[in-house]
Amino acid sequence: MDEKINGRTEADYVFEKTYVCPVCGTTFKALRARTGRMKLLGTDPDMRPIYQSIDVIKYDCVACENCGYAAMAKGFDEISDTQIKIIRKEIASKFKGLKHASRVYTYDEALIRTKLALANSMVKHGKLSDSAYICLKIAWLYRGKRNELIAPGEERTRQLSKLEKEYMNKALAGFKEASTKEMFPIAGMDEWTFDFLLAELSRECNYIEDAKKLVSHLIVSKNVPERIKDKARELRDSIMEKEAEA
Ligand SMILES: [Zn+2]
Repeated sequence: MDEKINGRTEADYVFEKTYVCPVCGTTFKALRARTGRMKLLGTDPDMRPIYQSIDVIKYDCVACENCGYAAMAKGFDEISDTQIKIIRKEIASKFKGLKHASRVYTYDEALIRTKLALANSMVKHGKLSDSAYICLKIAWLYRGKRNELIAPGEERTRQLSKLEKEYMNKALAGFKEASTKEMFPIAGMDEWTFDFLLAELSRECNYIEDAKKLVSHLIVSKNVPERIKDKARELRDSIMEKEAEA
């Protein structure tokens, strides 16, 4: 995604931000995206945002290169003393360091950081929805990496699709469990947005009956915003088209 569009490259949308690690006390710099300057081109059906010249998902997680503590940038400092102790024991003690990147993150560098955030979220027993959301972001990174392939060989494309689906299934299972244990908003989503996302993920993971149930519910329920009802109808239609083809 380094191609020049309007003379701007990915690096023009990225800056280094200084963080102090709450686990080891190290001051370090991580790359963040300058959201204000970016142009949103659209979103995938599962709400993955697509921006001109940059895949912002690469910059959503912040990782300490010294001890391996990592989290979504938004909640980077939200960590209790007990969680710090667990992370020192389970992650920091085994961590071998991370190569610094000061210009842009490649997909592989972003995947390392985002997977570290997932490991941290699981070890510290963070919210189920946090881990699920990080799994979704990993799935999106594999999709981004697949879309970036210049000469997509079938085998490579298949491998990346498989990894994307694997993390999407984890995200779906995590979100489902979170919905029985957490109160809305879940991962920043209201009930309707959340149900739509579950429907779309169910479709992508091939749980067609689940997807159909969720969209029907969204279409007939009162209080669902028109914008979400429209998306639910689109999803229902695309499922019906697929079924008619089969
Ligand atoms: Zn640290």
